[in-house]
Amino acid sequence: RLEVSGLTRSFGGRPVVDSVSLTVAAGQVTCLLGPSGCGKSTTLRMIAGVERPDAGVVRIDGAAMFGAGVNLPPEARSVGLMFQDFALFPHLTVAQNVAFGLSGDKAAKAARVGELLERVNLTGYGAKHPHELSGGEQQRVALARALAPRPRVMLMDEPFSGLDNRLRDGIRDVTLDVLKEEGAAVLLVTHEPDEAMRMADEIALMRAGRIVQQGAPYNVYNAPVDRAAAAFFSDIN
Ligand code: ATP
Ligand code: MG
Repeated sequence: RLEVSGLTRSFGGRPVVDSVSLTVAAGQVTCLLGPSGCGKSTTLRMIAGVERPDAGVVRIDGAAMFGAGVNLPPEARSVGLMFQDFALFPHLTVAQNVAFGLSGDKAAKAARVGELLERVNLTGYGAKHPHELSGGEQQRVALARALAPRPRVMLMDEPFSGLDNRLRDGIRDVTLDVLKEEGAAVLLVTHEPDEAMRMADEIALMRAGRIVQQGAPYNVYNAPVDRAAAAFFSDIN
């Protein structure tokens, strides 16, 4: 469970993220949806711990990651990260990439790697190197790598935007299945309404640093909070 409250950050005196609050339950996907520059990536980076908030609280499963005098480093937060440029380690095999964040004995690691490669439909790819894979296959390896250590929270920033349209739908479906099986609380950033409609249990609509509407995709789509929200959804296909 991810709980964010009052998250705020300014650059050069301009608030870029302005008192953002949201909760994502385990096993749920919330899409942070909004136009370019509205503060989505900055929000995600603060939750991940790579950008320091000016104010606010970040909790995972009830424990403070940031706020009230606490500021845990990213590696202590039980977050998995996936960004558009999800670079795999080119000199490592697929299996080594997926195992990268794992500790413990060899057999347990191998079992976890095998389980994840199966989930992303890449059984038999373990010994290959990233350059031997298609973009879509690399993306699925990156997903397996991020999920391998069983993060409680998965943060995804436009993870499909580097893929061509033909691949995107299929990869979204596989990704959603794997996320649901693994059960992390997922916060997925996108500027595409149709992606949010397809993937989200809940949409948090963001504009100029603030969340202006939050709810089930159907409700946000059917009852936009204002004209700008309606216009934002109107180019959906
Ligand atoms: P996009 O959809 O284009 O990725 P976004 O919603 O992710 O946009 P952010 O990357 O969070 O937007 O940026 C929000 C605003 O904050 C932008 O105006 C950006 O220029 C500004 N910004 C982000 N990081 C910094 C920084 N380190 N220094 C100064 N300004 C920044
Ligand atoms: Mg961004």
